[in-house]
Amino acid sequence: MESLTSGPLYKNVMESLDHAASIINCDPNVLVRLRQPRRAMIFSIPVRMDDYKVKVFTGYRVQYSSSLGPFKGGIRYHQDVNLSEVAGLAALMTFKTSLLNLPLGGAKGGVRVNPGELSRTEKQSLTRRFTTELGPFIGPQEDIPAPDMGTDAQTMAWMMDTYSQQKGFAQPGVVTGKPVDIGGSLGRVSSTGHGVIHVADRACQFRKMEFKDCTVAIQGFGNVGQHAADLAYQKGAKVIAVSDVSGGLFNGDGLDIPELIKYVNEQKVVKGFPGAQVISNDELLELEVDVLAPCALDGVINEHNMKDIKAKIVVEGANGPTTKKAADYLAAQNTLIVPDILANGGGVIVSYFEWVQDVQNYYWDIEQVEHNMKKTILKAFDRVATFAEEEKVDFRSAAMAVSVRHLEKAMLLRGLYPR
Ligand code: GLU
Repeated sequence: MESLTSGPLYKNVMESLDHAASIINCDPNVLVRLRQPRRAMIFSIPVRMDDYKVKVFTGYRVQYSSSLGPFKGGIRYHQDVNLSEVAGLAALMTFKTSLLNLPLGGAKGGVRVNPGELSRTEKQSLTRRFTTELGPFIGPQEDIPAPDMGTDAQTMAWMMDTYSQQKGFAQPGVVTGKPVDIGGSLGRVSSTGHGVIHVADRACQFRKMEFKDCTVAIQGFGNVGQHAADLAYQKGAKVIAVSDVSGGLFNGDGLDIPELIKYVNEQKVVKGFPGAQVISNDELLELEVDVLAPCALDGVINEHNMKDIKAKIVVEGANGPTTKKAADYLAAQNTLIVPDILANGGGVIVSYFEWVQDVQNYYWDIEQVEHNMKKTILKAFDRVATFAEEEKVDFRSAAMAVSVRHLEKAMLLRGLYPR
């Protein structure tokens, strides 16, 4: 049996939780509960591949906490997905929704598969069977999945359709991040990346810097990285480096982001884009920039490279990109780390708006979505900044402390059942 709690990400999140709990003097009965998910599920997902042979994939859903509302969190397709990683990410979702003051709990799901190796038909079969297995445990009032790494709006459309087929009528509120034509929200696709930049801008103000005068490096050029780069460019900042699995690009005068996005839409990777020097992913992280936004995998800033990180501000677009040890080291060097549960919260904020729109059958215009997302994420930023200044702690500890304090209140008010 796979271990739930032994993975590096889970341990890392628990270390941050314990530290935050000590700062706010959290009730030990609350803490002991918060250190374990409510439930964790492992599914076998048989899929008939294009060669007609059946392959069995392993899927997971960890429903971490529902103290604040229905479980909420993405579904990840990646070859390294495992139970403990999904549990760590589910815990992070719990702290994210709490910090953002959304009436939602935290969950995460995943399938151990390289989505790049699946045909469209295979991906659809996998998604539909996984949704069927998840069926008894998800629903608009129970648990609402969304996209994450390796999944997108099309994946959510298949999930929504499968769930709805089995209910007998359309159930748009069962997942968020759907295409707009079937009940998705305007602005959901760009929301995480845009949120990263709203937060980066506010972090610059906090440090008495002007975002438009900043140099920016972005690791990861998927959905989050692309939209972050795009908004940073629109705001006038110089995006001097980006990278993806194919490697990195550097141009000290600033990359032409609209052209690069067009290039990546056609070529699928940043490699080969003209007018830029080739660098590695590691070199990108170590550039002397004002703002570094790691928007790819977890654990990329760690004890091995922390001493080489030169960015003034690190905005965590990915989930868990900085280990606790590296975060503590960098905070001591006066690097401002805006943690994942705040920095990448734009996605789940607009997911919440999408769910509200689905439940009400009343859809908002893009201005309303973007205005409310920005307001929500910046309010959370200000709560964290105030706590950090008052308690003289770093942003990462402050974000976790504000989140845990809200969860603690809710859990104590609801009490333990049966006693
Ligand atoms: N997967 C995204 C995250 O990690 C979004 C989750 C959601 O929208 O429910 O925050």
